Amino acid sequence: MNNAVLMIYTGGTIGMVQNEQGVLQPFKLDRISDAIPLLKNVPYRIDSCQLESIIDSSDMCVRVWSEIAQIIENEYDKYDGFVVLHGTDTMAYTASALSFMLENLGKPVVLTGSQLPLGMLRSDGRGNIVGALEIASQRVNIPEVSIFFEDKLYRGNRSTKISAQNFDAFASFNYPPLATAGIDISYNKHLVFYPECDDFQVHKSLNENVAILTLFPGITSKLVNSILETPDLEGVVISSYGSGNAPTEGWFIDALQKAAERGIILYDVTQCKSGTVRIGQYATSYDLGRIGVVSGYDITIEAAITKLMYLLGRYSDKEQVRKMLKQSLRGEITV
Ligand code: ASP
Repeated sequence: MNNAVLMIYTGGTIGMVQNEQGVLQPFKLDRISDAIPLLKNVPYRIDSCQLESIIDSSDMCVRVWSEIAQIIENEYDKYDGFVVLHGTDTMAYTASALSFMLENLGKPVVLTGSQLPLGMLRSDGRGNIVGALEIASQRVNIPEVSIFFEDKLYRGNRSTKISAQNFDAFASFNYPPLATAGIDISYNKHLVFYPECDDFQVHKSLNENVAILTLFPGITSKLVNSILETPDLEGVVISSYGSGNAPTEGWFIDALQKAAERGIILYDVTQCKSGTVRIGQYATSYDLGRIGVVSGYDITIEAAITKLMYLLGRYSDKEQVRKMLKQSLRGEITV
């Protein structure tokens, strides 16, 4: 029997085709082979479904992540792989969130989208969809949540959107591509993250009581305190400088210390696109270590905030959350 792929359409630029009047509008999923006629001849079956409402990915939220995860859970046994068509703006966040929500994933979940709508002549969507489908159809099993974009397959929780213009819109600065598509798709199998066992589990409850505190020279205590004193706050990604450095001023360290004493988890993630956090390497991160700020190592901001949401949603024991933040759960950090 042929392999089968389920394509889940969430929205984004990719889903636009021209109607009879030449106006761009979201395509009907069952017409995908009209947009890409050669899909009728592929050696695997393509089924499709779409979210309750089709969105621009700037409207992505925890409820929609749960909806996508629920579809994958319901259909898991019926398909060899999944393709998620998604807007590019928050694709790296969704890929990161799904990577944590889908534990012991044994099949490919490939996200893709495009910079130009499928209905435009120069669209990058055709190549992206066809590549994602081929990868999801499992000639080689890559049982990860990944992003396929402009000839590269990236681990989802290592990816970041880097261009609002170029077809080459994504990058993975701290981890090499899992595959590269040329005449053939060449897989880097030694880089693939395989599940520990086949007990596939889906975790749909994420905790939204999190924040990102982005540091910049001139940041005021008013701003820092207003973030740290947000009602119900449970975790904060500190988007720090260089190898995890932050101001040494008394008011700043005091504010962090008080937040830590209130049980808020502080997670140190560098603003640099590549490289890793090393708490204590400089005097400017020494105090962070003393307060108990957790190192994000080389995690992306997208993976950091979603990892916090996932762990705080799953465990009420803060020590457990802190311990697991330091571990690579789905290949998102190099420890
Ligand atoms: N704003 C669009 C979205 O993220 C952009 C895109 O799809 O590329 O949904």
